[in-house]
Amino acid sequence: MEIRTRFAPSPTGYMHIGNLRTALYEYLIAKKENGKFILRIEDTDKARQVDGAIEMIYQTLADTGLKHDEGPDISGPYGPYIQSKRLEIYQKYAHQLVELGGAHYCFCNQDDENDHDPCRELSIETARKMIAEGKSYVIRQTIPSGNTTFYDEVYGEITVDNNTLDEGVLLKSDGYPTYNFANIVDDHLMHITHVIRGNEYLSSTPKYNLIYQAFNWEIPTYIHVPPVMKDEQHKLSKRNGDASYQDLVKQGYLSEAIINYLALLGWAPEGEEEIFSLDELIKQFDVKRISKAPAIFDLEKLKWLNGIYLRKLSLEEFHQLAMPYYQRLIHRNVDLMELSKVLQLRISYLAEIESMIDFIDEPCNYDAGLFKNKKMKTNLENSLEALLWIQEKLIDFNSFDDDEKLHQLFVNLAKEKEVKNGRIMFPLRVALTFKAFTPGGAVEIAHILGKEETLRRIDLAIKQMSA
Ligand code: GLU
Repeated sequence: MEIRTRFAPSPTGYMHIGNLRTALYEYLIAKKENGKFILRIEDTDKARQVDGAIEMIYQTLADTGLKHDEGPDISGPYGPYIQSKRLEIYQKYAHQLVELGGAHYCFCNQDDENDHDPCRELSIETARKMIAEGKSYVIRQTIPSGNTTFYDEVYGEITVDNNTLDEGVLLKSDGYPTYNFANIVDDHLMHITHVIRGNEYLSSTPKYNLIYQAFNWEIPTYIHVPPVMKDEQHKLSKRNGDASYQDLVKQGYLSEAIINYLALLGWAPEGEEEIFSLDELIKQFDVKRISKAPAIFDLEKLKWLNGIYLRKLSLEEFHQLAMPYYQRLIHRNVDLMELSKVLQLRISYLAEIESMIDFIDEPCNYDAGLFKNKKMKTNLENSLEALLWIQEKLIDFNSFDDDEKLHQLFVNLAKEKEVKNGRIMFPLRVALTFKAFTPGGAVEIAHILGKEETLRRIDLAIKQMSA
């Protein structure tokens, strides 16, 4: 049997972290068995729909490598996987379900929920007559008495008393199906073998099973996954300002890192290794290791992982990604490639670059206190002395683009003056940046700034120190 999973997002505007994780698990479960991963757009709730959202779903799947095997084609006419294009199908099956006894026509308060629906008692003939007379109606599920038992791969066997299930609307008065119905019809018609979705649907699953049974359709394997939480109490939610996939990308997190992180959010690999490419995830992923416990979104861990992915890039690749953040430096005479080299070792997401490069814009927010450092054994006086030594050496030095030579120059200077290297490097870094923390050391910063600017800043610092 071919494994077929589906990602069934509603086009509401952004890619929720939890939804993307569901898509990933659906993709992995299908691909592990050489199965098919299907994209289906669930757009029957027109009120919640947002323009451009379908394209955004496409873009996200393309960027993350979750390539679907079947689905709508946004470049051409939308194919058969857009629910709003399939209304007649749902209508046909809804009426058929009434005949099979799994649903009934209801003429009450239209789309409202109603636990004790008097219309249940109407005969089909009476109901059809009312419809022929032009009475507006909905189709509601008919819930039989008894219990419903089903098995979920993550949560195990679950039994519910049918009394607790509401006779929800399956087809609305305007002919649109609700999620509860369209989803089942499509999963059946699209031969979905494994339904993977958020556990908020766990409590509705018995209702879906009653529909499958009424149609005499095979029930798919269920894999309900725990929610992604912001903390113990709150779900991660874009509405509360939590990051969506797009937000993370904008901040400079790489799709590969996000995907790797999302895989770990609710699933535990067998060994210690946590860094996995998509292909490796396909091999490693195991439904049995999906946790029942809610997963807490840990931005610090994502930062750590993203940092690893940034460092895996070649310098050129990193430089390309960093360029947009250098816009304001473009007309400055600084060595941007050296800047990239230094930043690549340090940052965990690209937007961090913004605050890391402000030392280039404005060097001298003069702060004499910064020269004092116990560990380096520096103070204002001996820093001034060191800067004068450095100035003298640098005037005739012309290999600023060679880290090795620059470094050697400072080491030789320290040797000559019989002081520790730190007595030279530390005051220089302070004089060049007037920052306690900088993305690189004195050598890299002098390299980035180049000879002219380095000497200008040293000179300025000396003047301010001796004023
Ligand atoms: N359209 C539903 C959602 O976005 C799909 C749920 C499911 O996978 O069944 O939540």
